[in-house]
Amino acid sequence: MINVPEIFGSMVFNEHAMRAHLPKDIYMQLKETITEGKPLDINISNIVANAMKDWAIKKGATHYTHWFQPMIGLTAEKHDSFISNYKGGKVIMEFSGKELIKGEPDASSFPSGGLRATFEARGYTAWDPTSYAFVKNNTLYIPTIFCSYSGEVLDKKTPLLKSIELINTHSLRILKLFGNYNIKRVMPTLGAEQKYFLVDKNMFNKRQDLVSCGRTLFGAKPPKGQDLEDHYFGALRPKVSKFMKDLDKELWKLGIPAKTKHNEVAPAQYEIAPLFTTSNIAIDHNQLIMEIMKNVAERHNLSCILHEKPFAGVNGSGKHNNWSLITNTGINLFEPGNSPYENAQFLLFLCAVIKGVDEYQDLLRASVASAGNDHRLGSNEAPPAIISIFLGDELTDILNAIENGVKYGNKEVMKIKIGVHTLPEFQKDNTDRNRTSPFAFTGNKFEFRMVGSSLSPACPNIMLNTIVAEELCKFADILENCDNFNDTLNKLIVKTIKDHKRIIFNGNSYSDEWTKEAKKRRLHNLETSADAIPQLIAEKNIHLFTKHNIYTKSEIMSRHNMLLQNYCRVISIEAKVMLEMTKKQIIPAVLKYIKEISETALTKKSLNSNLECYVEEDIVNNLSSLNFELYNEVKKLEDSLNEAHELIDLPARSIFYRDSIISKMNKIRKISDTLEKNTSKEVWPFPSYSDILFSI
Ligand code: ADP
Ligand code: MG
Repeated sequence: MINVPEIFGSMVFNEHAMRAHLPKDIYMQLKETITEGKPLDINISNIVANAMKDWAIKKGATHYTHWFQPMIGLTAEKHDSFISNYKGGKVIMEFSGKELIKGEPDASSFPSGGLRATFEARGYTAWDPTSYAFVKNNTLYIPTIFCSYSGEVLDKKTPLLKSIELINTHSLRILKLFGNYNIKRVMPTLGAEQKYFLVDKNMFNKRQDLVSCGRTLFGAKPPKGQDLEDHYFGALRPKVSKFMKDLDKELWKLGIPAKTKHNEVAPAQYEIAPLFTTSNIAIDHNQLIMEIMKNVAERHNLSCILHEKPFAGVNGSGKHNNWSLITNTGINLFEPGNSPYENAQFLLFLCAVIKGVDEYQDLLRASVASAGNDHRLGSNEAPPAIISIFLGDELTDILNAIENGVKYGNKEVMKIKIGVHTLPEFQKDNTDRNRTSPFAFTGNKFEFRMVGSSLSPACPNIMLNTIVAEELCKFADILENCDNFNDTLNKLIVKTIKDHKRIIFNGNSYSDEWTKEAKKRRLHNLETSADAIPQLIAEKNIHLFTKHNIYTKSEIMSRHNMLLQNYCRVISIEAKVMLEMTKKQIIPAVLKYIKEISETALTKKSLNSNLECYVEEDIVNNLSSLNFELYNEVKKLEDSLNEAHELIDLPARSIFYRDSIISKMNKIRKISDTLEKNTSKEVWPFPSYSDILFSI
C-alpha cells in the first residue's frame, strides 16, 4: 500500500522542507526570491546550502549536481560529492552557498551552435531558486541555468525564465487597466500530456533501429494493427499496470503530481498526464517524467519509447501542451467571467492569443520542429503542419457578432458592446472537442498539440509566452495612452478580430479541403523541419526576440544552426543504420532463405527429376529480383550520403537530406517490407511489428 500524502514530495526541498530546515527570517527571504525574483544574498545562500545539504544527507544523498537543460537533448548533470575535507581519517561533508549558486561544468562538449569557440569553452551554471531542488539516486539535484562566461545563453531554461518575466510584466499592465491593482504576479501554466510506447525489452534490444534511432526503420504492417481500436481506454495489462504503479510512486516522491494514466489509440501506446502547474516547474517535471519512465521501464524488463513515430502505420506520440495564465490570486485569465468588465478582459487576452498565433505561426511551428516530429505533422494523423486555432462554433459566433456589431443568437442584447454587456453564455468545455486542431481553446486554456513526445516543452512555451506578451505589450501601449478607454478597447478588439480571424478554423484539420483553404488564407504550411527551422531567423522574428531580450541575434542564429545540424545528423544516423541493417541482416537473411528453397528444389529433383518445383522457383525468382533491387538502392543511398557530407551550406544540406536522402530511405524500406512479407519468419533477422506491438 502506498501512502500518497506521506510520500508525495518527500524527496523535494519544497516549501514544507524549507520551513522545517531554515530559520524563519531566512525562509522568508528565500521565499521572496522565489515568488518575486529578488536576488539572493550570499550569506543567506550559505545558510540555505547548509540546510539543504543536511536535509539531503538525511534522504541518503552523498553527491550534489547542478542539473541543467542544454540546447539540444534533454538534461545534463555533473556530480560532486559533499566531501570537502578530511582530517584524521574523518571526512567533513560541506556544501557552501557558492557551490549552490554557481557551478562550472566542462561546457566544451555541449552544443553551442557556434556561439562559443572551444578555446573559450568555459560556461557556468547558476541556481534557479524558482524550481525546487530534489534528491534522486543519492544525489541532490539543483535546477540551474547554463551560460557562457561572456554571458551568452547556452540552455533552454534561461530564455524560458525571461519569457515568463515578460508575460508577467505585460499581463500586469493590462490587468491594471481593468482596475486589478491587487494582482502582483501573472504566471503561465502548463499541463503536459505525455504519450509513449512500452514494449518488451528483449524485443527492443534485438532491433538495431530501435536501439540506435528510437524508431523502427523497417517493418511490414501487421495483419492486426490498430484497425480495431480496441486498445484505447481498454483494461491495463498486468505488466503495464505494475510499471505504472511503480512510476507513479517514483514521480510522487519527487513531488510530480502524476494524475491520469491510460491506454492510447495505438497498441502498446500509453499516456501519462500530471496536474498542471506553473510552466517552469512543469517543464522540469516533464524532463524528469521522461527520464524516470525510461528507468522504471528497464526495471520491469520493458523499454519505454518516446520517439514521435516509432512504428509506421501506427499512431505517433505527441505531447499536448496545455497552456494558460494564472494570477497569484488564483484567477485563470482565460476563464470567461461573469461581469462585463471581466468579459472585456477575457476577450482582450483572447485577442492577444489570436493575433500572436496568427502573426507568429511560423515560430510556433519552428518551436516543435525535429526530424522525429516531421513523421507526425506531415502525415494524416496528428495535427497537420498548418497552424490554426479552434475556438468552437459558439465562441466564434460571438466574435463574429462583435466584429460586425450584430445581434448574437436570441439573446436580449442587440449589440454586444465590450465593457458594457455581459458576454452571452457559451458552452465552455464542449465534449465533442475538435481533436484535429493543432491549437485548441478548451474552455479555459489552450491546448497546443503539435509538440513531439520526445521534445522538451521549453521551446514551445518560450514562443507562446513571448508572442502573447508582445501582443499584450502592444495593446497596453495603445490603451494606456487613450482618452476613452471603453471606446478604444472596443475598436481594438473589433480590429483584431477582423485582421486575424483567418487563423480561426473549427473544421477538420486533417482534411485536404483545409490544406487548400489554408493556402487561400495564406497561412504557412511548413511541412518539414527543413522548412520550419529557417523561420526562426526571419527578420520579424529576430526583431521580436531582441526587442524583448529573449534571445540576442547571435543566440537565435546559433539555435537555428544547431537545430538544422541536428536535423541532418538524425537523418544521417538513421540512413547509416538502415544501410547496416540492410547489408548485414536483411540481404543475407533473404539469401539464406533463397538458398534453403533452392536446396529444397534440388533435393526434390534428385529424388525424382519429374517433380514440380513451381513454388520454389516462384519464390526464388521473386525474392532474387527484390533483393537485387534492394542491393541497388543501397548503393544509391550510399552515394547520396557521401554527397550530403560534402555540402557545407547548412540550409542546403538540410534540404538535400529532406529531398534526396529521405526518399531513398523510403524506397529501401518499401522493398524490405515486401521482402519481409515473403520470407520465412525463421530467417527474418529481427522481431516483426506483431512481435513487438503485442509483446506485453
Ligand atoms: P485531454 O482531453 O486533452 O486528454 P485531459 O483532461 O486529459 O485532456 O488533460 C488536460 C490537461 O490539461 C491536464 O494535464 C491538466 O493538468 C491540464 N490543464 C488543466 N487546466 C489547465 C490550466 N489552467 N493550465 C494548464 N494546463 C491545464
Ligand atoms: Mg490532450
